[in-house]
Amino acid sequence: MKPEISVVIPIYNEQAGLQALFDRLYPALDAIGSSYEIVFVNDGSRDNSVSILAEQFRARPDVTRVVLFNGNYGQHMAILAGFEASRGEIMVTLDADLQNPPEEIHHLVAKMREGYDYVGSIRRKRQDSAWRTYASKAMNHLREKITNIKITDQGNMLRAYGRNVIDLVNQCGEVNTFVPALAYRFARKPTEIMVEHEERSAGESKYSLYSLIRLNFDLVTGFSLVPLQLFSMMGMLLAIISGVLVCVLLVRRLFLGAEAEGLFTLFAIAFFLMGVILFGIGILGEYIGRIFQQVRARPRYVVQTILQQPTPGHEPLAADALEKRTVGR
Ligand code: UDP
Ligand code: MG
Repeated sequence: MKPEISVVIPIYNEQAGLQALFDRLYPALDAIGSSYEIVFVNDGSRDNSVSILAEQFRARPDVTRVVLFNGNYGQHMAILAGFEASRGEIMVTLDADLQNPPEEIHHLVAKMREGYDYVGSIRRKRQDSAWRTYASKAMNHLREKITNIKITDQGNMLRAYGRNVIDLVNQCGEVNTFVPALAYRFARKPTEIMVEHEERSAGESKYSLYSLIRLNFDLVTGFSLVPLQLFSMMGMLLAIISGVLVCVLLVRRLFLGAEAEGLFTLFAIAFFLMGVILFGIGILGEYIGRIFQQVRARPRYVVQTILQQPTPGHEPLAADALEKRTVGR
């Protein structure tokens, strides 16, 4: 029997906080009173998370499923694998570190039942370090300008998606992606609600500055061509300006004679433009690298095992079947 709600949670080295998560998540879902399943996706944790998840599966096999990756493929790949494995009509995603309170899930579900097929959420007061909050606000603003995705608080994973949206997401074979933005593309009737946000219950953030930059490039390159177009626009503008400059210098040369001053100004302009050119090449590289990864068409992730109860009348979803579905996309 298909559950009504599927909760998908990516796990990467979260051993310290998992028990606290179980202690709040299961009662919060039981309280909703609808059938549900929780799909934990272990994203190649190197700590004890797998055995804690396996134990939890043994404790609540009726509502728990565990997808185990053979390596670390990133939070968004883990969520996508969770989507492929889940069967609910309403999909809810949240982080494992209790920054997204499980008690908020019923608000998302209630909103979905009003007829929306995408319920985003806005953190009432974000509990992260100041630099991350500001950097993320700036990125949010930039994304708002260069894509047509209307998400108020993009970094927040506590969201609900309808089955129609997830079926389309499951058809995408994107290697580098940003789940909330991808799903937004397919939503017919999206909305947002306000939710609480808490500090990480245990352990540390799994995102370094480097991986945050990579993730934001995934978001920008995956959903916008504006950075590329910006460079062609800038190139045109500079070509016009230098054309005018050549004319001015020519006229000056003819009437006033040669000029050799302003050497350092010239250097400054040249270095600035070199910086702009390098940045442009870098942006090109970001797109080309992703095109390369996509055309190689390697599996996006490899599922080692899925811990789940066999459903009567259905073959259990074998790991290699899932794997095959992701190959050659
Ligand atoms: N995560 C993951 N794979 C990764 C990094 C993170 O599955 O490579 C999971 C992590 O276990 C957590 C969620 O993604 O459930 C969000 O990670 P985190 O809380 O570290 O991110 P932050 O809140 O700092 O943005
Ligand atoms: Mg977190």
